[in-house]
Amino acid sequence: MITRILPVSDAGSAEGRAAIREAARVIRDGGLVAFPTETVYGLGANALDGRAVARIFEAKQRPLNDPLILHVANLADLTNLTDLTAASDATNLKPLVAVLTRAFWPGPLTLVLPRGQNVPPIVSAGLDTVAVRMPNHPVAQALIRAGGVPIAAPSANRFGHVSPTTAQHVLDDLDGRIDLVLDGGATPIGVESTVLDLTADPPRILRPGGVTREQIERALAKIEERLAVSDWRSLTAQSPHTMPLPSPGMLPSHYAPRAKLVLCRDTDNLLTRRDNFATHGLKTGLLILESQREACDNLHPQFVLGETLSDVARNLYAGLRALDSAGVDVILATEVPRSGLGEAIADRLARAAAKAVETEGNCDHD
Ligand code: AMP
Ligand code: MG
Repeated sequence: MITRILPVSDAGSAEGRAAIREAARVIRDGGLVAFPTETVYGLGANALDGRAVARIFEAKQRPLNDPLILHVANLADLTNLTDLTAASDATNLKPLVAVLTRAFWPGPLTLVLPRGQNVPPIVSAGLDTVAVRMPNHPVAQALIRAGGVPIAAPSANRFGHVSPTTAQHVLDDLDGRIDLVLDGGATPIGVESTVLDLTADPPRILRPGGVTREQIERALAKIEERLAVSDWRSLTAQSPHTMPLPSPGMLPSHYAPRAKLVLCRDTDNLLTRRDNFATHGLKTGLLILESQREACDNLHPQFVLGETLSDVARNLYAGLRALDSAGVDVILATEVPRSGLGEAIADRLARAAAKAVETEGNCDHD
């Protein structure tokens, strides 16, 4: 199969509209289209067509027990795809959904809700729940509207690999396996959406992401009394190592580069460990902050992520991919504080490093 690439620098331009019309046709015909969202690139198919959805799993080599996220462009679709009356009497989902969608949609918050009748079981891996979000990206929104159907879309990478934040990353993983890529430039947030399970009582963050725990807690606090949601403060996202696995998307090793990722306490620790790896003949790449640049001045290859948590989130996956391409054995990065967007970044770094933990004893003498 030849994968076509259509540029969409502006979804409203004549060129952009034509590209989106073509992509919508591919979706309606049961094909696969990679498209930009505000988080990462998604690999989309018609969510109501079980055979089209099956092609997503095949292209990504994703196991069938890892459910997908449905992308919608309006709230009516959310109602059609879910069954908000299916939950137990104790949890009144409607006001929760109303508050959260008003606060965060369109945006990087995915809601796990009871699955509606018309959603093919393959979409949610046979679970009786379904994950839905409304992306905040003009190309994604235009594509869903033009297709006229909800779009099932996981990240557009090979299963277990780092998510793509540019069209080139998508091609690096999936060229020849999908029909079309809409190239809308680099994605602005750079880490995936927050997955919030509203069928759990209290609601539970299954995956930290672009909307922070603090933001969700503030939004829910407004309705706490009215709802009597018992104890939503325990919106605990557990560490990837202790969490029961609701699906393989939550595997300890995920979002992983080819090289081993090693997390360091601080710059000194990073430099010491780099020396140790070098002694053992291993080639290291540094994933660093602007403020570490001077201390790491002549040490290459290196990738500078920027300074703020938003910079780090936006550039993290490009950095991991770039250092992989430079052929390093080990990527050294420093830990980030686990608050705000830092929670999602720390989660991804921990999962990317999970592979390394098993083997680090062979080569690290920190
Ligand atoms: P991706 O789109 O590749 O970022 O992956 C989708 C994420 O959403 C994975 O971590 C899935 O495990 C999670 N997810 C999707 N549907 C459900 C569901 N019904 N219940 C729990 N998690 C889900
Ligand atoms: Mg993914």
